Amino acid sequence: MNEHRVAGFTLSLDCEGLWGMADRAEVLADRRINDAALRDVYSWLLLTLAHANVKATAAFVSCFAAGLDAVQANHDLLQRMALLEPSWFANLMPLLEQGSRPEGWDGAALYQAVKADGHEIAWHGATHLSLSDRTAGEAVELELILAGRLFGELGDVPRTIVFPRNLVGHLEMLRGAGFMTYRESPPAGLARRMLGLLNEWNIRDSRVEAKPEMRDGWHVSPSGFFLNWPAGVRSLAPVPVTIRRWKSLLREAVDRGGYVHMWFHPHNLITAPLMKVAFDEILREVGELVRSGDLISLTMAEANEYYRTEIGGVA
Ligand SMILES: [Zn+2]
Repeated sequence: MNEHRVAGFTLSLDCEGLWGMADRAEVLADRRINDAALRDVYSWLLLTLAHANVKATAAFVSCFAAGLDAVQANHDLLQRMALLEPSWFANLMPLLEQGSRPEGWDGAALYQAVKADGHEIAWHGATHLSLSDRTAGEAVELELILAGRLFGELGDVPRTIVFPRNLVGHLEMLRGAGFMTYRESPPAGLARRMLGLLNEWNIRDSRVEAKPEMRDGWHVSPSGFFLNWPAGVRSLAPVPVTIRRWKSLLREAVDRGGYVHMWFHPHNLITAPLMKVAFDEILREVGELVRSGDLISLTMAEANEYYRTEIGGVA
């Protein structure tokens, strides 16, 4: 089967506010990721996506999506989880118990705005506790109960997972709970991570072959590429290089019928504003290719359907 498909583009977003950094006291104390900054960045992001005609997969931490009132209403469950996983909840529980409304943790309005724009809602954990196999099954069960309660109130049943910290685990339990799709972990190990970093300078990047595939009853989405967050060592890759690299990926995908999957966290745009310059320019290119019919925007769930015939080998 050698048919040449129209290239596909997926954007997945890890939507978590400060829930994703609950174990990092220095980030929580920094206060740059606050309610106003999150509001600004999500509305800018939604506008940019609408201009490009791109529907993303927005993987929300359930507690962030539901907001602090709903979280407080489930305090009993959080206390049980904190007993099982004290290190993840060490900074969080005192914050919740102060009775104040800490900034950066309530994404209820952002969630509603993302949903209203028709993006796919996916799951990024109930509290962003790792769902890797190193986390006890009992804690993962409580994560599922909490997510069920919170998403239930929101009237949503996500079927796609982006694993917290990209650590894939408990696949059998999660498949049993109704999830069907997940984003693969990026290559592990120092050498491969270094290679990934070096690829930020690869302005002829052409790795567009990986597509969603069926594995052990799951639709597995390729790990995709992180949109460079120009902070720390990553700030050494200049924004124009990042833009040229992504344009190369898009051109290769169009020429060869490939697939490009981009991911990042919306809050990355707060702590490294230069990333907005790169994203804006890349999405402008994506938008033009979508308009000309050379590229199709696919959510993670839609990508499964689009590549289904390649998965099974039959139409
Ligand atoms: Zn995360």
